[in-house]
Amino acid sequence: MKKYLIICLIVVAVAAYWFFDVDRYLSLEGIKAAQAQLDSWRSGSPFLAGLSFFVLYIAVTSLSLPGAAVLTLAAGAFFGLLWGVVIVSFASTIGATVAFLVARFILRDSVQSRFGDRLQAINRGIEQEGAFYLFTLRLVPIFPFFIINLLMGLTPIRTRTFYWVSQVGMLAGTIVYINAGTQLARIDSLSGILSPGLMISFAVLGLFPLIGKKSVAWLKKRRVYAKWSRPGTFDRNLIVIGAGAAGLVSAYIAAAVKAKVTLVEANKMGGDCLNYGCVPSKALIKSAKLAHHIRHGDDYGLEAVEPSFSFRKVMARVHRVIATVEPHDSIERYTGLGVEVLSGYARLVDPWTVEISLNGGGTRRLTSRAIVIAAGARPFVPPLPGLEDVGYLTSDNLWDTFAVLDEPPRRLVVLGGGPIGCELSQAFARLGSEVWQIEMVARILFREDEEVSEIAEASLAKDGVHVLTGHKALRCERDGEQKFIVVEHEGREHRLEFDALICAVGRIARLQGYGLEELDIATERTVVTNEYLETLYPNIFAAGDVAGPYQFTHTAAHQAWYASVNALFGEFRKFRADYSVIPWSTFIDPEVARVGLNEQEARERGIAVEVTRYGIDDLDRAIADSAAHGFVKVLTVPGKDRILGVTIVGEHAGDLLAEFVLAMKHGLGLGKILSTIHIYPTLAEANKYTAGEWKRAHAPKKLLALLERYHNWKRR
Ligand SMILES: Cc1cc2nc3c(=O)[nH]c(=O)nc-3n(C[C@H](O)[C@H](O)[C@H](O)COP(=O)(O)OP(=O)(O)OC[C@H]3O[C@@H](n4cnc5c(N)ncnc54)[C@H](O)[C@@H]3O)c2cc1C
Repeated sequence: MKKYLIICLIVVAVAAYWFFDVDRYLSLEGIKAAQAQLDSWRSGSPFLAGLSFFVLYIAVTSLSLPGAAVLTLAAGAFFGLLWGVVIVSFASTIGATVAFLVARFILRDSVQSRFGDRLQAINRGIEQEGAFYLFTLRLVPIFPFFIINLLMGLTPIRTRTFYWVSQVGMLAGTIVYINAGTQLARIDSLSGILSPGLMISFAVLGLFPLIGKKSVAWLKKRRVYAKWSRPGTFDRNLIVIGAGAAGLVSAYIAAAVKAKVTLVEANKMGGDCLNYGCVPSKALIKSAKLAHHIRHGDDYGLEAVEPSFSFRKVMARVHRVIATVEPHDSIERYTGLGVEVLSGYARLVDPWTVEISLNGGGTRRLTSRAIVIAAGARPFVPPLPGLEDVGYLTSDNLWDTFAVLDEPPRRLVVLGGGPIGCELSQAFARLGSEVWQIEMVARILFREDEEVSEIAEASLAKDGVHVLTGHKALRCERDGEQKFIVVEHEGREHRLEFDALICAVGRIARLQGYGLEELDIATERTVVTNEYLETLYPNIFAAGDVAGPYQFTHTAAHQAWYASVNALFGEFRKFRADYSVIPWSTFIDPEVARVGLNEQEARERGIAVEVTRYGIDDLDRAIADSAAHGFVKVLTVPGKDRILGVTIVGEHAGDLLAEFVLAMKHGLGLGKILSTIHIYPTLAEANKYTAGEWKRAHAPKKLLALLERYHNWKRR
């Protein structure tokens, strides 16, 4: 309502301006003609004249009306250089700020909600360097004053910053104009006031603060190295600490471009993904799924029987799978690719030197021009009283611990309702454990939309998992051989007995013990890096779980490209890590896959979206596979087919998502997906049908009505 009132007021004021032909008076000729009259008024009542001029100036500039330049000249003519500058400097800045605030009030929300995702980079730039950009724009009078006011209103720059930067930035131009105005009679046109030479000087002056800022940043960077003595030459171009996904890819890229690279791994090649994470968990999930199918054989016209199996053999298969994948990440393979691989624990000694305590004994010191830290993360163990006493497992040790069991643990507690907790809970329930999954917040998979959490919870419950959301683990207790966990729900305590407990409440970056502290490399849950993945030291980079913000194998590999390329070629060109299209999947049944925005994020960030859904229960292939459940949900820019985010729940959701990931990455809309042939009958057709749903919702209704009349007429 307020918005409309303001818009009405502006429209009335602008209409009045044109209706009463104020424009005529605010021209060079108009001012010159009235000069004698205005001069005498100013000499008679200087204060009133000054105040009236001040108010008029604010009105013209705040309404973005033409005439500000002429008024500035007039200020010089009537009030002289000093008072002219004082009056115009404040009036123009106040007027500019009013225009800025009006643009912000009326337009910013809708612009940000419509283009918010595209404006992210601009917003970030304005937050970091907005004052400098504004200063440059203000100093160079070729950028129209009113456009700067309106555009800046749409950005997140603070009003206070806008005000003072505008006032300081416009001062030089104001003085030039006011000074010219003192000679008003001799001025024939506005264009001659600023000579090209003066314009260039202003432009150089405008760039000066930006150059200054960059120089300060450069000096700061130099200063971080001041206390270290740089080696004259280097043993390596790159040393990589950690041979998980991030480290392996970094080393691979370095070797591929013929850099001399050493990869150091303290534990097992392949890191967490191969040995304790993705690979064993997905192998276990597959066996569990098969057990589930056998149990529900009647869904496929077979006998539904309780699967009989040896858990030890299931776990042996898990280890066989790891062993089969192992050669991809092995020392032999990487050595063959040209990487020197050292087994040992690496420690940063200074910004260029790494000391390696070799697993076989002895140490080695190597210097390198650049270093990539890819030390990964480890499971977070909550400080629960009694936990150490009852004993617990994490992804680090459960694969070996369970490998010697003939039966899965009879009663299993899984702490955590995130992706890892959900995957393990369902898999063990399907393999015969009675599972209690404990989650403190109100729902599992809380980063996904609520309906996704509901489907996941229902599905886990169907497999027998007791999903205890809103339950806070308080402590663990032991009574002889019996182990318990005490949880609180709605103010009441409950005690659950268990045989094994898995902590899956998150993973924390490995930050201690390898020199980050000694080198003062900042950490805040992860190693702090800039957008180029540089740490405090521009030659030391971080990638993967140790750097965050995502904790996936594919994001670790993605960051590794930026870290290694920036490390080796940063002098020529540096690349900002691009997180605009990050997909992920939770491998429960039904799978949950997502890329980009979901509905809850769009709401939180105030981004307007249009939601298109397709129910997979309708899909021929899913029906044939007895997998007719789940949905594809696509968020698009309202009225357009540009994809902002996709959530898929269903069989092979992670695989189906790939088409949308590609589309988002390369700016292909739903129209392009609809016009692409998809094989019949496949699950991938769900993507095309979703695009079809969008198209149907945007059918040109008037044109179709006309066509109907045309066809009716043709039948006559
Ligand atoms: C149960 C589970 C399931 C998962 N499932 C998936 C999934 O399905 N999909 C997915 O994308 N992600 C999954 N993840 C996450 C994935 O495993 C990680 O995101 C990925 O391993 C991160 O790779 P990284 O290279 O950053 O770290 P890591 O793989 O942890 O590698 C870091 C390596 O650095 C070594 N290291 C540390 N410090 C030193 C040092 N000072 N000197 C020498 N070496 C050192 C460590 O020993 C380690 O091997 C899962 C994780 C878990 C635990």
